[in-house]
Amino acid sequence: MSGLDLLAPEHHGLFIDGTWREAEGGASFAVIDPADGSELTTVADGSVADAVAALDAAVAAQASWAKTPPRTRGEILRKAFELINERSDDLAHLMSLEMGKPVAEAKGEVTYGNEFFRWFSEEAPRIHGRWMENPVGGSRLLTVRKPVGPCFFITPWNFPLAMGTRKIGPAIAAGCTMVVKPAEQTPLTMLALAAILTEAGLPEGVLNVVTTTSAPKVSAAVQADPRLRKISFTGSTPVGRLLVKQAADNLQRMSMELGGNAPFIVFEDADIDAAVEGAMIAKMRNMGEACTAANRFLVHADVAEEFATKLTSQMGSLVVGRGQDEGTQVGPLIDEKAVDSVTALVSGAVEGGAKLLTGGSAPSGPGYFFTPTVLLDVAADAEINSQEIFGPVAPITVFTTEDEAVTKANATEYGLASYVYTRDLSRTIRIAESLEYGMVGVNTGLLSNPAAPFGGMKSSGFGREGGFEGIEEYLETTYVGIAAD
Ligand code: NAD
Repeated sequence: MSGLDLLAPEHHGLFIDGTWREAEGGASFAVIDPADGSELTTVADGSVADAVAALDAAVAAQASWAKTPPRTRGEILRKAFELINERSDDLAHLMSLEMGKPVAEAKGEVTYGNEFFRWFSEEAPRIHGRWMENPVGGSRLLTVRKPVGPCFFITPWNFPLAMGTRKIGPAIAAGCTMVVKPAEQTPLTMLALAAILTEAGLPEGVLNVVTTTSAPKVSAAVQADPRLRKISFTGSTPVGRLLVKQAADNLQRMSMELGGNAPFIVFEDADIDAAVEGAMIAKMRNMGEACTAANRFLVHADVAEEFATKLTSQMGSLVVGRGQDEGTQVGPLIDEKAVDSVTALVSGAVEGGAKLLTGGSAPSGPGYFFTPTVLLDVAADAEINSQEIFGPVAPITVFTTEDEAVTKANATEYGLASYVYTRDLSRTIRIAESLEYGMVGVNTGLLSNPAAPFGGMKSSGFGREGGFEGIEEYLETTYVGIAAD
């Protein structure tokens, strides 16, 4: 490896107030390689007191960081963007080790995640308020945009870098300080990011990272502190609900990027080869462990057989293996619990009458692998249609009318990503307006883009990351009324 030695123990402590330190009592926990269950290394296991110390540092740094010129804040992000680009191979390798995804895919995440730093480096100097004449005369109305203040970020394991940069980028641009708690399965990428941001010139205390196995206690304590002004969470809906409740006492600002149950609708007029290609991306990116992953394939009866046959052929030929091996297309799932959950959903669908076209089980041997799977004629009420699968399984349900497709697509508590394949422009407009989702992909299986507002509705949460909307989540507005003749 060149540049930073990303597995070096000096970067495995807590990162608080610009220094690496041990957790209270020297506690640590193991980071596991999901390809074989072995221990990769250990990192500090932060306590509640450690998390409060991190918040102290963020609070102490807030005033001077807010006064740092926007251009300076943007240039630190830009420098970090360049450093990440230089070290993208190292970062991708590290992420593949702790998370399991193939190195090539991890590299894609580094590129994607890093674009949030570039985007928000450009947004920092564009923060602005307005000047307006009172419509009835007699005064001027000004708005001043200010950073929200110290933030707390909780990120998941599935995109260890991008789920961090989507929050850290706009927070730095807006002038907020922060405490970040990465997922316990994948702490190393976030620690490497902290080292890179420091090298890029981020002042002490602006970004603090607390790795811990005590997420519930740490979050409860940090949220109970009235100095915390905002929480941004990416993760499961049940944990999101808990954090929203915990935010009530101090009325913290919140962004909630929660679970999804994306429909992937293929109409009879679609280009079926393009739909299969899009399906492979929407389903198999990140081994299906994505909140945007196509969860339910709704395919018109006229083209269902062709679509299922072509999808099965592609899913059945994917190479499953260790993420760092040349040629691997599908890595392991994150842990044994994930394999058990996917296995149960597939068995339930088959017991309910679905036809298994390929895959269907976990291969024997070490690691948390699951074979890419296609199921046809899945019953509408099958558990697999209402739960987030988070694995390489494509369940297909057939429909006959547009109304039926829309009704089925919206029949879920979630509302994050959705996909539709059609060549009919009027239908595209009708569908985009009828789907109760924060994002609709038309003839594409890839929606995520740093220049676009990513986020959901209903039980998928609220708030947007990326796009022009992304920085709004980190800004307050003060209105100033000035008497004038
Ligand atoms: P999770 O909710 O179990 O964990 C996410 C994070 O929350 C981790 O850092 C974990 O340590 C922490 N956490 C767990 N319990 C907590 C508690 N009681 N208090 C505070 N923090 C707690 O989710 P996961 O299994 O790690 O991630 C997968 C989920 O994330 C899926 O539901 C997926 O859809 C969702 N996700 C959403 C988006 C999005 O942008 N909408 C993106 C990626 C993943």
